[in-house]
Amino acid sequence: MIDPCPTCGATTRTPVKPPSGSPHHAAERCGACGRFLRWLPRPAGVIPDHCLEAAVPRASPVPLRGTARQVEWATSIRTDLLRRAAAQPRLAQLLMTIDDATWFIANRGRPLEQLRWPAVEQLASAGREDS
Ligand SMILES: [Zn+2]
Repeated sequence: MIDPCPTCGATTRTPVKPPSGSPHHAAERCGACGRFLRWLPRPAGVIPDHCLEAAVPRASPVPLRGTARQVEWATSIRTDLLRRAAAQPRLAQLLMTIDDATWFIANRGRPLEQLRWPAVEQLASAGREDS
């Protein structure tokens, strides 16, 4: 059941890529008048290259960066995410590689398929966690 476009009443939809640099995956626009309707969720399981490159296998999650309160909160969010991602090894690896506590706080409560992928600077780079 597709709701008619509030502007023209059409029920056709066109996905439109946002400009590069946009945090969104794609916009859904009316296929007739082009009115913006909503942001489309990212397809599940498509992890960007920069994340895959950083997400090397590791035995335990990297130490988190942030204030003591942020780290404590983010650790409990991460524990929950890792439990839910148990059947998705690549995603679990990526979650264990994110070292920015604010990323976990910003993504708290999201279904796995709606997580915002972290930026390069939110990922532990090889070696940094040991320094
Ligand atoms: Zn329309």
